[in-house]
Amino acid sequence: MMETKRDFLKKLSLLTVGGLMAGGVAPVVASVKSSTAAAKKKSIGLQIYSLGKELTENVPAGMKKIADIGYTTLELAGYNNRKMGQYDMEPYRKIVEEAGLKITSAHVNPPERKYTKDNTGKIADWWKQTVEDHVKLGVGRLIQPGMPSIETQDDAKLVGEVFNSAGEIAKAAGLKWGYHNHNMEFKRIPKPGETPPSGPYASFMPFGDVIYDLMLANTDPNLVFFEMDVYWTVMGANDPLEYLDKYPSRIQVLHIKDRSVLGQSGMMNFENIFKKAYEIGINEFYVELEKVKTNMTQFEGVKGCFDYLNNASFVK
Ligand code: MG
Repeated sequence: MMETKRDFLKKLSLLTVGGLMAGGVAPVVASVKSSTAAAKKKSIGLQIYSLGKELTENVPAGMKKIADIGYTTLELAGYNNRKMGQYDMEPYRKIVEEAGLKITSAHVNPPERKYTKDNTGKIADWWKQTVEDHVKLGVGRLIQPGMPSIETQDDAKLVGEVFNSAGEIAKAAGLKWGYHNHNMEFKRIPKPGETPPSGPYASFMPFGDVIYDLMLANTDPNLVFFEMDVYWTVMGANDPLEYLDKYPSRIQVLHIKDRSVLGQSGMMNFENIFKKAYEIGINEFYVELEKVKTNMTQFEGVKGCFDYLNNASFVK
């Protein structure tokens, strides 16, 4: 509804400008047409993990190829030892910008998977260092994609505290801190005092709390946002639309992903996903591609994903 109104107003202002400048009907039509053509360039982001070695073996050439395909923004992966592969942060940023791309987000994982009262200080120190490095890249978002160990409600509480603390560290430097899911976050753990069901169908019986829901409940909306990977949500036997509806302000970014090249499996309803995302104000998303199963290269797969979204009428 809002978009329709905005589009209408945009057209109206173009008509007015065109009308004033040309003073006739025919030139107005022409100006609306050319603006439609110019607006055809969509802003589509790429999670660079999708390319693996094909990118890291020659970063400058790879970045140019990504830009040539048509992507405009990047979400990084591969930060390690305070570097991006062989590059320090500033030179890496320079390569990306020289290719005409912009780094808007980055995936990073802290060195610990099991959080304890004893290692939260070490984890916070790591986040301070990581935030400092990523400020140099000019990213807006820093995102943890790896799930910490959560087997009990106490684990979930501690993870919430560690996430909030990371969010606070990032916020102090002007970055937003978020969490990216796979399918394991949709497993359930018992509520306090609850005995989990047993027997052959135990894993299909709803009980306790969904870990993802606990992550949402145990984190501060002012410090922690969520990047929903819609494919992994489906793999976790859940409906992305249900979560987008339930947490419209917490989920701020999407990973647009399919089993292989976007739109080729029968698993993902991207039209509904985009419709809902725009409805709740999400405009930022990153294409992600696992290893392609055919004999195409990752670059060819990543191009296939771009073409799918660029040709899709439901993607703005
Ligand atoms: Mg993902």
